[in-house]
Amino acid sequence: MTDESITRRTALFAAGAVGLGAATAAAAASPPPVDTGTIAADKLTFPPNVASTEVQPAPPPNPAPQDERVGFAVIGLGKLATENILPAFAQSKHAKPVALVSGSPDKMALIARQYGIAANSCYAYADMARLRDNPAVQAVYVVTPNALHRRDVLAAAAAGKHVLCEKPMATSSREARDMVAACARANVKLMIAYRMQYQPHAREAIRLARGGALGDVVLMDMVNNQNQGDPGQWRQKRALAGGGSLPDVGLYCLNTSRAILGEEPVAVTASSWTPAGDPRFAEVEDNVAFTLHFPSGAMSNCLTSYSTHELRRLKLLGSTGWLEIENAFAYDGQRLRIAKLVDGRNEVTERTMPAKNQFAVELDHFAGCVKTGTPPRTPGEEGVQDHVVMEAIYAAAKTGRRVDLPRVAKRDAFRGPEPEAEG
Ligand code: NDP
Repeated sequence: MTDESITRRTALFAAGAVGLGAATAAAAASPPPVDTGTIAADKLTFPPNVASTEVQPAPPPNPAPQDERVGFAVIGLGKLATENILPAFAQSKHAKPVALVSGSPDKMALIARQYGIAANSCYAYADMARLRDNPAVQAVYVVTPNALHRRDVLAAAAAGKHVLCEKPMATSSREARDMVAACARANVKLMIAYRMQYQPHAREAIRLARGGALGDVVLMDMVNNQNQGDPGQWRQKRALAGGGSLPDVGLYCLNTSRAILGEEPVAVTASSWTPAGDPRFAEVEDNVAFTLHFPSGAMSNCLTSYSTHELRRLKLLGSTGWLEIENAFAYDGQRLRIAKLVDGRNEVTERTMPAKNQFAVELDHFAGCVKTGTPPRTPGEEGVQDHVVMEAIYAAAKTGRRVDLPRVAKRDAFRGPEPEAEG
């Protein structure tokens, strides 16, 4: 009970005593824990106020105090950083924004004021070495165009800061390996921001698929499409993007297919086609269809496009059931349905999951790794492997032939430990 609430209740009790009526007297009585909550081990919880037959509400988030959070510098203040990542810190429990890096001083000054970041914690790209002298910055989040990730990751590692880097990790497996080596040399952690491996519906799909809820998973079917606009944006320039739909949105299908069973593809087949004369596709590809062949015999059929209306769908087809996630790769709006035979009839049920901000969950996972020293679930090696497979997909599309990949026997070979359960 806070001093403030004690004072309020004492005053109400005095008011009741001079006869202000039954309602005021009831208000003066000490409310039960179901109303006020209880504190144990610095955590506030409320006993249930709905029947045990109802879904129990999540407890308050109990975020870590500000001075115990991991301080991040956000590098590159574009759409993802300003529309999603910076707002997500408000829902994070273990991370806080403490510095910015940008090539646009006016924009950086505005955002610094909006998020309470000190002017002397705002840096130009050329000044990133000075991050070393800012002890409030423990980690950076690289959110620049793909071809600049290597530059920014190497600069952050040289400044002794842990690195969370957006996908795709780089523009080639060679660059990606350089980044892993630089972070290892600097003894800093490197995580690639594969939000699907932290998003609750996708995690549930992984749990169900691996736990046998669908029988043997035989086929996966994934689509991630969006219709691109302005041909002048960096995503349509090969030198900055590294490719078209494949490394941008198709990568979600690839990375999630690999994560579902934890197997690595042993071969890929692919085709790619790009309409002639469309200025958006003067330098990068439009559509790619690719199939991943896994050692268990499972296959994943993936389709990605930069010229069709948004569709972000995942389906797993097992021997005894199927599962689908509508809006699987979107920022929100996921719906998970499972189909199975029940009492001799086909039954489709929806599994509801608590709404979570994917970016906050991802930030908290990395902040937890920095605090405890544990490796992230999606380290740099996970990003390298996606580049190896994407290079095989491009080669298969170019030649029209199946491309074999080295067999990887171990499950989750490139991943760290499972993310902690979210409270
Ligand atoms: P934007 O184009 O919106 O922003 C990129 C920012 O990078 C710019 O605003 C600019 O910030 C900075 N920048 C530095 N140099 C350049 C340059 N030469 N050309 C263009 N911008 C430059 O991109 P996004 O925010 O959409 O994407 C950034 C990264 O995040 C990409 O790697 C992308 O793949 C990834 N991404 C991931 C998503 C996810 O869901 N995980 C979703 C969307 C993107 P400043 O002015 O501050 O220097």
